[in-house]
Amino acid sequence: MEEIFRAVYCEEVADLFKMLGLFDDLMQGTLVCSICGSVITATNFRAATRKSGDILLSCGREDCYNQFMAQELREE
Ligand SMILES: [Zn+2]
Repeated sequence: MEEIFRAVYCEEVADLFKMLGLFDDLMQGTLVCSICGSVITATNFRAATRKSGDILLSCGREDCYNQFMAQELREE
């Protein structure tokens, strides 16, 4: 059950990155978390946002995600 859920989740991540035009970068491991600098993969990816033409990403760490979302709220 968990394996299926995980597969669905990864496909959604793939679709999102294709939409952002970053799928090749995701596969090549050149995308990094905008907070901690860790390489973003389909399994640790948590959130993405577009800011002045750049795509900012957050990995799955709670600290990163919270900081990432806090930045978002401040910008709005
Ligand atoms: Zn991070």
